[in-house]
Amino acid sequence: MTSYRIPFNRPTFLGTETDCIADSLATSHISGDGKYSKKCHEFLELTLGVSRAILTTSCTHALEMAALLLDIQPGDEVIVPSFTFVSSINAFALRGAKPIFADIRPDTLNLDERKLPSLISDRTRAIVLVHYAGVACEMDAIMALASQHGIAVVEDSAHALFSRYKGRYLGTFGQLATQSFHETKNFTCGEGGALLINDDSLIERAEIIREKGTNRGRFFRGQVDKYTWVDLGSSYLPSDMLAAYLWAQFQRADDIQARRREIWERYDEGLADWASANDVQLPTVPDYCEQSYHMYYLVLPSFKARTALIQHLKDRGILSVFHYLPLNLSDMGRRYGGKAGDCPVAETVADQLLRLPFFYALTPAELDDVISSIVAFETWD
Ligand SMILES: *Cc1c(COP(=O)(O)O)cnc(C)c1O
Repeated sequence: MTSYRIPFNRPTFLGTETDCIADSLATSHISGDGKYSKKCHEFLELTLGVSRAILTTSCTHALEMAALLLDIQPGDEVIVPSFTFVSSINAFALRGAKPIFADIRPDTLNLDERKLPSLISDRTRAIVLVHYAGVACEMDAIMALASQHGIAVVEDSAHALFSRYKGRYLGTFGQLATQSFHETKNFTCGEGGALLINDDSLIERAEIIREKGTNRGRFFRGQVDKYTWVDLGSSYLPSDMLAAYLWAQFQRADDIQARRREIWERYDEGLADWASANDVQLPTVPDYCEQSYHMYYLVLPSFKARTALIQHLKDRGILSVFHYLPLNLSDMGRRYGGKAGDCPVAETVADQLLRLPFFYALTPAELDDVISSIVAFETWD
């Protein structure tokens, strides 16, 4: 096995997480919705300005909750960008929905809103958006189209906590939005997520679905005298120990984001000349978007160039990785009718995109090492 001097990711760890976990243990409430879960809920609600935020065991599970909340039925169609993680659509496919794969924009790599009119049918129930690398989709156009057709919008905001579009936080546009606290994300508790609810009529049912289909939430609030099975549901609550871990990071959110911003900007400056001399595309961030500094990526001019650069960095002990394979070309995607040529931009980008090491603890020396290694790479023919 190759060992890398500079890994692709090290999970964010501040040291204060262990104090919060110890305190959580001392409260003797380590199941879901304890002291730290409540702190995290309140923090997300107040910071983002969403009606309700609830922690879940993962972003995948928050997406499953979204599919249940929207009452997705077999035969319903759900539009999703082809260039995303499987969970964005798998959660809806689990309810019987048919995925409709949309191509992405060549600049931000987000769902191409110009493709939506031709993909919407009278069976379309939802559009699942992904704000790739934490840069917003074209929300004005998408929300206008969705409301005109009565289609729900779910924002898969796994990359986009604290990103904004025209000053407004992502995760506050769709009826529902989801976050991830997986170890590869800006804020983490190992495995975790959150569901953000902007449509107040979905709040009570979300609590029921998350509590195994019971009205236990109402019971704890003294609103009913026993709790029972009232709806479909599952167990989507993380342990309060995990919430404690996450809370420690939320308390230092500005710090974490400021460091990530420095890393992103250093990459962007350090690679600009090399990229323009070598026909390499760097990330596009429209001026009305404030991003979350989730990742730094390059789009190389060819698959061959990407393969060569991965090897060049590997030879120097640096791990760089590619990202999503287009869903329309996946085994499951093909079973839903996906085929080569459906999403030409996603198919090309998937072969040419490279993600660079990007994490809170990346040192300035490591960062300069990655940049100088890349700048030394010119020969891809
Ligand atoms: C990470 C990620 C997910 C899955 O998150 P989990 O918390 O691991 O379930 C879903 N969608 C996108 C876009 C992601 O990046």
